Amino acid sequence: MVRQECINCKATYGIDDIVYFCKKCGDILEIKFDINELTENIDIYDWKTKPISVWRYRPFMPIHESAKLITLGEGGTGLHHSEHLGTELCINNLYIKNEGENPTGSFKDRGMTVGVTKAIELGARHVICASTGNTSASLAAYAARAGIRCTVLIPSGKIAYGKLSQAMIHGAKVLQVKGNFDEALEFVFKLGEKHKEIYLLNSINPFRIEGQKSLGYEICDQLNYETPDAIVIPVGNAGNISAVWKGLTEFYQLGLIKKLPKMIGIQAQGSAPIAHAIKTGNDKIIPVENPETIATAIRIGAPVSWKKAINAIQESHGTAETVTDEEILDAQKTLARIEGIFVEPASASSIAGLKKLIKKGIVLENEKIVCITTGHGLKDPDTAIKQSEKPIEVDANIEAIETTLDLRKAILAR
Ligand SMILES: *Cc1c(COP(=O)(O)O)cnc(C)c1O
Ligand SMILES: [Zn+2]
Repeated sequence: MVRQECINCKATYGIDDIVYFCKKCGDILEIKFDINELTENIDIYDWKTKPISVWRYRPFMPIHESAKLITLGEGGTGLHHSEHLGTELCINNLYIKNEGENPTGSFKDRGMTVGVTKAIELGARHVICASTGNTSASLAAYAARAGIRCTVLIPSGKIAYGKLSQAMIHGAKVLQVKGNFDEALEFVFKLGEKHKEIYLLNSINPFRIEGQKSLGYEICDQLNYETPDAIVIPVGNAGNISAVWKGLTEFYQLGLIKKLPKMIGIQAQGSAPIAHAIKTGNDKIIPVENPETIATAIRIGAPVSWKKAINAIQESHGTAETVTDEEILDAQKTLARIEGIFVEPASASSIAGLKKLIKKGIVLENEKIVCITTGHGLKDPDTAIKQSEKPIEVDANIEAIETTLDLRKAILAR
């Protein structure tokens, strides 16, 4: 039977029980399938004939047959063979899985289409999350699509304007709590406890992870079931790396792929509890008090899914790396200039991390690598503008424009 299971004590709960933490030990939950049952489901459904998207994998999702899907066409993002960047980094086989191509511009949509579909199934009319950006942008859009109320709590301080504008235009009630992210999150849990009609769609929600595991499935499908050697992925709360790994292991158990890739998690230097645990060979993280990085989407000191992430990295014989803000911005610019892919800073950390691992000889020239870029560059236009050349003001005549473009010399030489 498909169920929710505690990752620690293995206590189980039904998929229609509204529980956010294990009632016995307080740890987080994950969705578990019985592999034989899953095999039967997917045989009936003929999923391979459906277009690549999250709902191609409907029989792999813990959603009832009768559910009304709340969808905006998420998933099915491009897996781009990146020859220019590959050459620059000295590897032959580099792919970019660009999650900025999702409906609201980040991979969060994969989780929210399933999470909000589940919320509707459970009869919820009001959804809530705490977020520094993309989660609220995505939740607001899916709540609008479903026609239900949406509240988002954002911490005080700077938040990337692209993301905030999305939550606002989709009609979410945006509350800026005078406190940090952890405090905002605490209020979300309290509200959920006090008001049973509000459904929580924070990072711990295991139905979101189910949607996000489709990212792992899609990579396999798009590579014709030839598993890459490694998948490089930015890590904040660590839900996504856990989700991708879950998808891959399910495909492996079903016999759809013959081997599993290494999972490589990248964190920003000022916010890297998981990378530090991995590098020091620890099974536990030490939370970072005041996480700092320009990559706001991964500025998280106490990642909720750290256990799942460490497990994914260890089980896959992968690794973790940290990158500086400077390296992140450099990677963002390079990717935009030589591949035409504009991503937000957090996303570029996977590219920056890969570069470092190649230099260190941990990733090798002939390996097939997939880098996940998690969100679109327009999410944070300020950062992009700050590190680009300003528009050049010119007089309104052709000679002035030609001079500025260095075209005059050619004309004079003629
Ligand atoms: C949420 C997010 C991340 C971090 O993902 P986690 O699941 O929290 O590790 C990275 N990049 C972007 C753009 C995001 O929106
Ligand atoms: Zn438990």
